[in-house]
Formats: sequence, structure tokens, C-alpha cells
Amino acid sequence: MEDQNIEDGLTENPFPRDFHGYWNTGDSDRKDAPLWAKYRTKMAGEFPSPFRSTKHALAGQVETFLEKLDQLRPEENGSAYLGASGDLAYAYPWVKNVAIRQEMGDLDAVLDDVVSLFQGAPNWGSPLTLCNVNPNSNTAALLASMMSQVFAANILEGEYAWNVHRAELETAGMLGNLFGWNPLNTGAIYTYGGGGCWTYGLKYGLTRVLPDSRSKGVRSNAKVICSQQAHYVQQNATDWLGLGMDNIVQVRTDTRTNQMDLAHLEAILLELTSQGIPVAVVVCTMGTTDAGAFDPIGKVREILDRHPNPPGFGKAILYADAVVGWSWIYFKDYDFDQNPLEFSERILPILKRNGLALKELSVADAVGIDFHKAGWAPYVSSCFLYKNAAEFESIHRRGEDAYLQARTPYNPMYYTLEVSRTASGSLAGWATLKYFGMEGMQAILGGILESKYYLLDRLASLPEFVCVNPDDSNLVTLFRIYPTGTDAKAQYQRELKDPTRRSELVRHNQLTEAIGILLFEWYRSGKTIDGKYTPHMSYSTGFRTTTYNQDGAEAESVIYALKIFPMNVFVTSEVMRWALTCVLAARDEVMRSLPSLAP
Ligand SMILES: *Cc1c(COP(=O)(O)O)cnc(C)c1O
Repeated sequence: MEDQNIEDGLTENPFPRDFHGYWNTGDSDRKDAPLWAKYRTKMAGEFPSPFRSTKHALAGQVETFLEKLDQLRPEENGSAYLGASGDLAYAYPWVKNVAIRQEMGDLDAVLDDVVSLFQGAPNWGSPLTLCNVNPNSNTAALLASMMSQVFAANILEGEYAWNVHRAELETAGMLGNLFGWNPLNTGAIYTYGGGGCWTYGLKYGLTRVLPDSRSKGVRSNAKVICSQQAHYVQQNATDWLGLGMDNIVQVRTDTRTNQMDLAHLEAILLELTSQGIPVAVVVCTMGTTDAGAFDPIGKVREILDRHPNPPGFGKAILYADAVVGWSWIYFKDYDFDQNPLEFSERILPILKRNGLALKELSVADAVGIDFHKAGWAPYVSSCFLYKNAAEFESIHRRGEDAYLQARTPYNPMYYTLEVSRTASGSLAGWATLKYFGMEGMQAILGGILESKYYLLDRLASLPEFVCVNPDDSNLVTLFRIYPTGTDAKAQYQRELKDPTRRSELVRHNQLTEAIGILLFEWYRSGKTIDGKYTPHMSYSTGFRTTTYNQDGAEAESVIYALKIFPMNVFVTSEVMRWALTCVLAARDEVMRSLPSLAP
């Protein structure tokens, strides 16, 4: 027999004829097995089994280590960080002076080390965590994204994702429907953050406006138009895509609403078209990072359509950077008369306003959303959505390649920026959409506004405080506190508008920053006041300019502010009051240690 001949030939081979018996025989200590095979035996016992099995079951390991991770949660009413200490347990850059060990490690010891890395990390679910739009993750999204790691679906193409692709395709459908687009022609690409979405939006504009740029490179100074308060990722995107940061044109923002100033936008478009310069993309920020303002995208669409690109260039893309604000669209069709979820009268008009602002997303060509911001899902679950999938996917199409075959109808690898893409974000987003439904999302968002407007009303009643973004109805409250005895509301108006008050503005900016720094130190060191831990808050070193510094030329004439985001479902009105008590205490301590800040 032919097989026999092959086997005979192998007896001449210096290597063993059949090494199968070295492992998986149930006798892991075979003395004569070579060392590599002993390692294999150990790994075969510690990798998840390909088969259903109770021995070494992955679920058991997950349970053991999740329990250890859970132990890092504080006792009730504990600190806003995880574990026993808020200290940073490494020294930079010396921490990098480390090499791979020679021998194979011990699985449990490595996992214990992983648990220890979370010592001191922010606890996003803590009611005291008020620092940013970082929410704690809902359980459906958390488990969905964790599970995606087990069988590692790769959504670059159908063969490696199979039915898991439904998470991305149904996201396109559900959100396309919500945006008022045709769901069948809506496209969705889960990508690496709101920054990735912005980059996709810009790329869409470049490809449509400068079709030759795909092969010849970007050879035109096409412009990217966004507001002064747009996210700094404008720089990443223009830089990395090779368009150049100098091609960003910033539109002034309204001094009261922080929205894009439409007259200035129109003036910019007129100027560009008169010079024959094309626009690649206009970006409306639907929820700015610092102030939470929504640009008036409906009106922007009208203005953009009135000023098309010069002949020879494609039509500019209107991109909505809605990564922070997108979920307010859940209120676009809420029944405000019946008010089925029984929100307070206080916030109903706000919910209505936000719903109407986001309803205008329908006019965008593409929208970026972050489920890891106001979607209560884990990182990274950002989704870039485009209204005209047939166009987007054809104009970015690349050719076939030899490695991969299209075995299903949906193969985004032909037009995505990424090659391999984890399914983890798509499962997190999809699970959130399915779990929350319309009412769950409305309830969680409305609940945040109940806390936020409670805070706003408190600020209005306390003479030393002033809210500096009272017209912004998104998630963040920005405010300043002044020295005892100051009428904060009047003083702030003077600092905002009067250049002769510049030195007072600067002094109170320094006060704001010093309070922000002290509050962070208190949070990190686990300080308590009256036996209670202090919150994790943040501050901005200039969320906007003064009214006399609209072009931003004077670096000092900007408004610093403390920030509170009541982002999670454990925040209560009591937490809002407590945060202000801590801010007052921090102000008093700063004033004691830095008397130069006194009036
Ligand atoms: C957070 C943010 C981004 C960047 O998003 P990532 O998910 O952090 O990459 C972009 N735009 C706005 C308005 C943001 O708030």
C-alpha cells in the first residue's frame, strides 16, 4: 500500500514518526516527551476547549476572575476609584524597563496580575464619577462584547463573521429607520471611536469631491468646515488623511448658544466658491464636547445646497459628528402631551428641544455615533452611518484580492479603512439597541436631565456659583465659582464681555483651574469630608472665548469652567448637592493657600 511506503520512509527520519502520543493522552507527565510537547500539553489543558467540556471550561475561569475583578468595587458609598488605593503604581518611563520572561507563565498568576492592573482605575458606575461622558456599560452590551472575544468573529467579511454580521447590518437598519433614512440603503461601519467616524466622514468627502484623489493622492486644498467648538479630532483626520490641517476652516460660534454661526458659514462658502476652492466636508457637531451644543444642521444643509462646489468637483458631504448627542433623537417622536414616561414639567421642554434638534439628522449624508458615550456601552463601539450605502460602498470600492473570497453578500473589507475588524463593538451597539428599546433609552436620558436640571436650579440659587452653558441642553453642566461675597452671575457677565475686566477673568480662570486640580487630588487620595468621599470631576481650560475675542487671537481671553456630567443611573439629586458642597470646600482651601487669588 502506498501509505505503508510513506510510513517506511519516515523510519529513516531522525524525528519521531508520530508525536501524537506526547500529549493529549491523559498522561501529561510523560517523562520521555520533549519539553516543547510538555508545554503543548499544558496549553491544551489551559486554552478553551474546542468541544463542550466541563474540564477547564472557559466559563469557570471567567467566573473566577470576574469575581476577583468585582472585589475591586468599593463598599457601598465608597471611593470613585476601584481597589484599595488611588495611587499610580508605576513610574514612567522606567516601567518600560522589562523583558519577556524565559519560562512559560502560570495562567492564574497572569490573570491575577491583570486584576491588579485595575487597582485605582476610575469606577464608571460610581455615583461620584461625574468627570466626562464616560457612562458605565449596560449588562447586555458588556456581555455581548465580551462574548464576541470567545469565538473572535472578524467582521471584515462574511466567511469569518457569518451570522454575527447581522449585528452591523441590523444596526444600519434600526438607526437608518430612526434617522428617517431608507433603512435598506443605510450603511453602518463600526470603527475605532468617534475619531474614526470623523475620519470616515472626511474620507467620504474627499472621495466624492476629488474622485482622482484615490489614485493620484490629494492634490487640491479642498476645505473642511466645522465650528470653532468642533472636536480636536479635526486635526487628526486632516493630518492623517494627508489633506493637511491648514485646510480646516472654522466657523464662529454664537456667543449665547455655542452653535455654529450661520451668517459666518454662508460668508465662508461665498468666499470659497468665488475663489474656485472646493469644500470636501461640512461638519455639524451634534453635541459639542465641552458645551454640549447642537449645530443647526437643517439650516446648514440649506446653506450648503445654495453654494455648491465649483464646476469639476463633486458635491460636498454633510457629516454630523453626533458621537455625544445622537441618542437625543429617541425623543423626536415622543408624545409630549401624554408624556407616557412621566418626566417632570421641568425637563419636558428640554427633551422636546433636543429631540427636534436631532430630528434634523435626516439631512446629513453621514453620521458618527458613539455607543460608549451616551449609549451606555463599552469601548470601542462607535458607528459610522451613511445614508446612501450604494454610493459610499461603490465609490470606495477596491478590487478583489487573492487571500479572501466573498462567500456571503456582505463583505465590507472592500471599502473599509480597517482590514480585520472585531465584532465586539457591533455586538455592544446592537445589544444596546435591542435591550433598551425606545423607552429604555428615553428613560435613561431623561433621568440624566432630571439630575442635570436639579443641579442647574441649585446653581441658580447659590450666589457664588454661575452656570456658563445654561442654554445647552445636553449632558454636561459647566460652571464657575467665585470668592465669597462675589455676585457670580454679574461678575461672569462682565468677564465674558468687558475687555477692561481681563485681569479679573484671568485670576478667576486660575481659581477655577486650581479648584479643578485640588478636586482631582482629593478624589485620587480618597479624601473624605464629613465621612463622605469626594467626586471625580473635571474642568475645561477654555470651552469658549470671551465675546471680544471671537477669533481666539487672545489666548488668555477664554472661559475656564468646572464640569459635571451626571452620566450614570446611580446619580441622584443628593449627589448633585454633594458635588457642590465639595466644590465650595475646595474653593475655600484654594483661597487659603493662594491668597493672591482673592479680589
Ligand atoms: C469624544 C468626541 C470625539 C472623539 O470620539 P472618540 O470616541 O473618543 O474617538 C469626536 N467628536 C466629539 C464631538 C466628541 O465628543
